[in-house]
Amino acid sequence: MQKIQDDILSYREMCDAENVQVLQRGMNFRMNLAYSVILMSQRSNAPYQDKIHDDGTTIEYEGHDVSKRSYDNSYDPKTKDQPEKLPSGRLTQNGYFIKAAKDYIDDKTTPELVKVYEKVFPGVWSLKGYFDLIDYKTIHDGKRNIFRYILKLSERQETSGVETITREHTRLIPSEVKREVWKRDEGKCVICGDTKNLHFDHDLPFAKGGTSLSAKNVRLLCMTHNLQKSDKIQ
Ligand SMILES: [Zn+2]
Repeated sequence: MQKIQDDILSYREMCDAENVQVLQRGMNFRMNLAYSVILMSQRSNAPYQDKIHDDGTTIEYEGHDVSKRSYDNSYDPKTKDQPEKLPSGRLTQNGYFIKAAKDYIDDKTTPELVKVYEKVFPGVWSLKGYFDLIDYKTIHDGKRNIFRYILKLSERQETSGVETITREHTRLIPSEVKREVWKRDEGKCVICGDTKNLHFDHDLPFAKGGTSLSAKNVRLLCMTHNLQKSDKIQ
């Protein structure tokens, strides 16, 4: 089934949605013909600092370090600048995303479509949505240079390899709100208690003035109750 924004998935369901056995890396450039995939986490113990801008639709995603295996055992990734290339000259995942951002900025190509999943809790993932990769920057974090990618909520999404335009434009539900809602609703649909096919639902849709910035306006609904609700609104 096509996963839509704010659906909740187990790790297995996320891998199945991408037709892979495992999703090992956080950054997966051009995972298939239609889009790239990144995994993000705003948990306080996350290895990288990802954040949502105040506009509610832009993500700033930190680049990734290269594993020791690409160098030698004395290599400590956290003390080195994040590399754009491997010693062999091949691009790292950072390098591929940078190249795509540059192509968009310099040559006005269509921005790379990036599907973003976020970790809400261990084993609890949520599809954050489809984003356009529009820029990147290099910043010094006090110790070394790291990359930050700028991703803007896209009006496109793909359906079996073909891009389509998404329905309404919405604001992102911040990760801390998702965590609060997940705990409060105990991982169950608030109407029937189902624990399968859950979705973070805006009680009052954003388009009708509802805010996603507070847990009060977001709840867990199963697919059935989510669909029933959308029927009533339309
Ligand atoms: Zn339900």
